[in-house]
Amino acid sequence: MGIQEDLRALPAMHRLLADADVQRALDEFSPRLRRWALEQVLAELRTWRRAHVDVRPESWQAQTEPLRIAECAKRLLQARMAPSLRRVINATGVVLHTNLGRAPLSNLALQRVQAVAAGYCNLEYDLARGERGSRHTHVEARLRELTGAEAALVVNNNAAAVWLVLNALAKGGEAVVSRGQLVEIGGSFRIPDIMRESGVTLREVGTTNKTRLSDYAQAIGPETRMVVLVHPSNYRIVGFTDEPPLAGVVELAHERQILVYQDLGSGALFDYAAHGVGDEPTVRASLDAGVDIVSFSGDKLLGSAQAGIIVGRCELIERLRKHPLMRALRVDKLTLAALDATLADLADEEHARVRIPVVRMLTESEETVRARADEVASGLAQAIPDLAVQCDVRPSQATVGGGALPLTMLPSHAVCLRPSRCSAQQLADALRREGEPPVVGRVENDEVWLDMRTVQPWEVHELIQAVAAVLGGGMDKG
Ligand SMILES: *Cc1c(COP(=O)(O)O)cnc(C)c1O
Repeated sequence: MGIQEDLRALPAMHRLLADADVQRALDEFSPRLRRWALEQVLAELRTWRRAHVDVRPESWQAQTEPLRIAECAKRLLQARMAPSLRRVINATGVVLHTNLGRAPLSNLALQRVQAVAAGYCNLEYDLARGERGSRHTHVEARLRELTGAEAALVVNNNAAAVWLVLNALAKGGEAVVSRGQLVEIGGSFRIPDIMRESGVTLREVGTTNKTRLSDYAQAIGPETRMVVLVHPSNYRIVGFTDEPPLAGVVELAHERQILVYQDLGSGALFDYAAHGVGDEPTVRASLDAGVDIVSFSGDKLLGSAQAGIIVGRCELIERLRKHPLMRALRVDKLTLAALDATLADLADEEHARVRIPVVRMLTESEETVRARADEVASGLAQAIPDLAVQCDVRPSQATVGGGALPLTMLPSHAVCLRPSRCSAQQLADALRREGEPPVVGRVENDEVWLDMRTVQPWEVHELIQAVAAVLGGGMDKG
């Protein structure tokens, strides 16, 4: 048979739509979508046939069976309906992986988000009085309790918080910043640029490695509105360095009647340093030292939803609340629901360690991580007896990520896969592209390393299934 006959032999649309097998295969989709998908498949078959001159009749017949066409249409529709934003298993060992969405939420936070999202809620409604309320009140009491601040406000992220604080409290004036703190946070967020955009003139003081109290004292003039202290989140200056103690800067600024604002970046509410993890100061410590206003992220070390949290003196927070652009920066009910739950768990250290995923991952013992690695390795050995891959558990080093605690190495363990019939990079690509859910690891010494510090206990079974399916589905056949 020639091409023309083959094309004419394709089943007609009305026949396909009336076919019982086709109807069964596509019954979850609307008639409009069924027709659309079948048309796509028929068009693809026509193009394919024209491009392939020598096709055996049996092969063409098999490809054009109504059921076969329906199955292709189904895959097409499933792909079309699939979400773009998907959960992945983070086996990179980077706890606050910004590209992978930073902090996973706790069960409590998820429950609260779901409850609030499924129906209406008292976002701006005072249930006691039956009148209009404020969205800003929902997490304020918890933030005050956790930090010792007089007042608190939540905006969309910490970048927005920095802009708002500068614009509302220092616009038209100068802000003094140490040269060692003019940081870039990544994604083009640079402190000097934000200052300019907020209408504040930057006064740099000191040098990259040393800034003294006298540098601040000399720089403060009649135009100075605030001293800005920026946490050098993602880097450290080591060696011949100096910076004045926080209390000294505060004393000087207050003597000259100007404000001190600290962008803490991560802003720990959990005392990680007390648990042997890093040297991150707590938000409370900054406020205790007399800092007037502090901002930090909701989805870094705090371990909740994306948000920018601002705490400090009542009168200052009130000015921020009344800012004309406050509405453009405000958070939605889902963020507040998640944050409320995380803050509730942070009030109790033991709850925080057990319930908040970020706190748990950062404080979990090396032995527990190792046990998880062993579990995954033996699970894989069982799932596919002939793995065509060598699988070992090795010590690894996880990191905090998210621009926090760059020097802190977290002792960890990884399941290391060495495929025999493809490269480690090919396996890593397949785990990402074909994994259900996608698995993101790292390639080291021609092995795929799956770091277990960032794999949550409830993900272990899924991880084994996902890796086994990818290995069994052709990867091992080269
Ligand atoms: C991360 C960070 C920011 C930006 O915070 P986002 O919540 O990501 O917007 C600002 N300043 C510092 C010092 C940071 O570390």
